[in-house]
Amino acid sequence: MTQIIDGKKISKEIKDELKEKVSALAAEGIEKCLAVIQVGADPASSVYVNNKKKACEYIGIRSLAYELPAETTEEELLELIRELNGRADVDGMIVQLPLPAQINEERVLLAIDPAKDVDGFHPMSVGNLSIGRPGFVSCTPAGIIQLLKRSGIEISGKECVVIGRSNIVGKPMGMLLLRENGTVTICHSRTKDLRQVCKRADILVVAIGKPLFIDETYVKEGAVVIDVGIHRDENNKLCGDVDFERVAPHCSAITPVPGGVGPMTIAMLMSNCVFGPQ
Ligand code: NAP
Repeated sequence: MTQIIDGKKISKEIKDELKEKVSALAAEGIEKCLAVIQVGADPASSVYVNNKKKACEYIGIRSLAYELPAETTEEELLELIRELNGRADVDGMIVQLPLPAQINEERVLLAIDPAKDVDGFHPMSVGNLSIGRPGFVSCTPAGIIQLLKRSGIEISGKECVVIGRSNIVGKPMGMLLLRENGTVTICHSRTKDLRQVCKRADILVVAIGKPLFIDETYVKEGAVVIDVGIHRDENNKLCGDVDFERVAPHCSAITPVPGGVGPMTIAMLMSNCVFGPQ
């Protein structure tokens, strides 16, 4: 029987634990605060930003919303980041991506104080993760580790294959699985014989960004499959990088889309804000 990993339920569990922690902190007079910066009004970004604000509200984190016009200059944005870096009452800040063309994304991410980098995108956070020092970890891969642990799936000693080497998913995913003592392979578009590499996996994490790319021919019987992809198919229905219908019967456990990895990202952002660098 395939275990369907319920990301909605697990993310709710985490948010409820955070809510308790935040109320305990409040009793000691400590308030947590997240600043969320959005430049321009990209509709997809607005949905993400709104969801982050709602999660803050649910947990009891104060959120500061900065909705800047699309024509904001890089210097204006950097000035706001510098101001928030210096504010003792702000625990974390995120700049919603993508940014308008006139703003250099790398310079902006570098300007965020690593001690407030709750998205875990700053090179200092990435470096800390690679050398095993405490730091903020990118939220989607951190959420996947929680999904595995809270579903009773052992990582230590397992063959873990990650498809995708992006800075926000694939690479930190590989580092986290390694931290959990998995034996890790990271695949990308130049990987030779992807199918055979994937077939070795006890745990297969798919972050390839191509709808329904992975079918049962990539999956070892009894593997755990984690689908990071999010797409809309021709009927506007959400689907992942994995062909769930074809793959699920061959797995011991699998995440659905929607309701798998997706809800974990915001839960881990909130966790980063409450607990700080881990
Ligand atoms: P990305 O930056 O586009 O990276 C895709 C990766 O897949 C690249 O490393 C690429 O290799 C590799 N790839 C592409 N085609 C391949 C092929 N035919 N064979 C092997 N590898 C191939 O994507 P991302 O930002 O990591 O996101 C991946 C997916 O996850 C997207 O669908 C995105 O929407 C979704 N996502 C979901 C969440 C969430 O909260 N659930 C968060 C972030 C992303 P190269 O490096 O060689 O080009």
